[in-house]
Amino acid sequence: MLSLPNNKNMSAWLMGPRALFWSGVVIALVMVSLCAASLYQSRQDALERARDTSRNVALVAERDIERNFELYGLSLQSVVDELGDPQVMALPPRLRNQVLFDGATAAKNLGSMLVFDASGEIMIDAGSDPPRKGNFADRDYFAVHRNNPDVGLYVSEPFHSRLRNGVASIALSRRVSRPDGSFGGIALMAINLEYFHELFGGLSLGQHGAISLIARNGLMIMRQPYDPKIIGRDISNASTFKHFMSAPEGSFSDTSSIDGVRRQYYFRNFPHLPLTIMVAEAEPDIYAAWHRRALTIGSLMGAFALGFVALSFCLGTQLQRRLRAESGLQLLARTDSLTGLHSRRTLGEILEQEWRRAKRTRSVFSLLFVDIDRFKAYNDTYGHQTGDDALAAVARCIGENIRRPADTAARYGGEEFIVVLPDTPPQGASTIAEKIRSAINELGIEHAGSEYGRVTASIGSASWTPDQDTDVTTVIRAADEALYNAKATGRNRVASCRE
Ligand code: GH3
Ligand code: MG
Ligand code: MG
Repeated sequence: MLSLPNNKNMSAWLMGPRALFWSGVVIALVMVSLCAASLYQSRQDALERARDTSRNVALVAERDIERNFELYGLSLQSVVDELGDPQVMALPPRLRNQVLFDGATAAKNLGSMLVFDASGEIMIDAGSDPPRKGNFADRDYFAVHRNNPDVGLYVSEPFHSRLRNGVASIALSRRVSRPDGSFGGIALMAINLEYFHELFGGLSLGQHGAISLIARNGLMIMRQPYDPKIIGRDISNASTFKHFMSAPEGSFSDTSSIDGVRRQYYFRNFPHLPLTIMVAEAEPDIYAAWHRRALTIGSLMGAFALGFVALSFCLGTQLQRRLRAESGLQLLARTDSLTGLHSRRTLGEILEQEWRRAKRTRSVFSLLFVDIDRFKAYNDTYGHQTGDDALAAVARCIGENIRRPADTAARYGGEEFIVVLPDTPPQGASTIAEKIRSAINELGIEHAGSEYGRVTASIGSASWTPDQDTDVTTVIRAADEALYNAKATGRNRVASCRE
């Protein structure tokens, strides 16, 4: 009898499907956020890896250049030293050149090795005897050494060689001072820019990567991808160049002034030479693999999340439909269809619940047993349908005469009703019973078979303070006995039975 769960209102039941749907949405959002966070992290990793690669490439190139320049610088130094040795200078020119240049001219990508006098004329030429003709007083390297005795090893601006058919070169040079310290000319070693071209060409930096060697004054010495027009260009006003001047090394992101591609730049100023190496990886190259992966994972994840939300929605809707149907059925089972009062099944629950409460609070529990008088005769006279109408009218009457929210009326069966009055003393119960009786009487429904000529009801009232030994059936039985007394003493009346 007490199989249903306790009263739950309908909206509470309907919270379930909505909660299911929103949980689905939250789970989908969490999954998408986790995926996005992980994709963002892998994008950062790609950038980090690119920076490391750039740095390594720059270091490799820098070490190669520094090592070669150091060797060339030492060779030049020994030339300058031996120029001051009269024994060497007294040797026949071919032998003297061998001693001076020590076979260094054989090195790959090394151009002319020359000694100029104070007027810029070639005095000694490692590659030709007699020396080739030419005056180089107009070159930057010549002017620098002439005007400043303390330059040391000088790295020149890029130039097109006049002695070697315009081959693009730079020169390393040292000043030759006379014994009195005055300017005596310079010793020079030309390096073909092809050396840098080959060095950079062997380093892989992706499709749009770039590597440049720039003089400290902003002149471009070499750039990969190679374009002869860029060599010698002054980039000292470019935004990238401003970065180079700001720190010994660093990285930044910028759009190239040469080709408009956005790149991650790494630069490093050579510690011992007036040169800066700059390695740049194009952002499209850095993120290409990540892009493909992000697109696949992102779209799969998006589809999965949408599917998940749709599934939650479907499940929620289904659940809602089911719960609605269930609660409709339940309402049907809990209500008596003819009278609209609680059914006998619900009455069982209410009785149990209120009885327990009364036990707990040690309050008086009252119960009315209402039975229509001579109802069999009414049916016989007016027919079953009219009988049903009269039943409904009486039920309405009972319902209208109980006012407190805790009071409940239920159809017990046939033409019998039970009214539960928690926390109501016998006096109060009798008063309500009397109100109900007189209200039914006042309905004035014609009943020829009754001694009162109208539909009436007898009511038995019982009141009990529950203790450990009694149960609710005791009270029902007592009310039933009181009802029997009411019937026996003339009907249309209230009889009480006290504990
Ligand atoms: P009393 O005054 O002693 O209570 O006499 P009574 O005829 O009311 O008592 P009894 O228990 O003999 O008869 C009850 C009758 O109630 C039987 C049946 O005809 C009628 N009845 C029970 N349930 C329904 C119902 O759902 N509809 C209708 N129309 N009549 C019902
Ligand atoms: Mg009866
Ligand atoms: Mg009856």
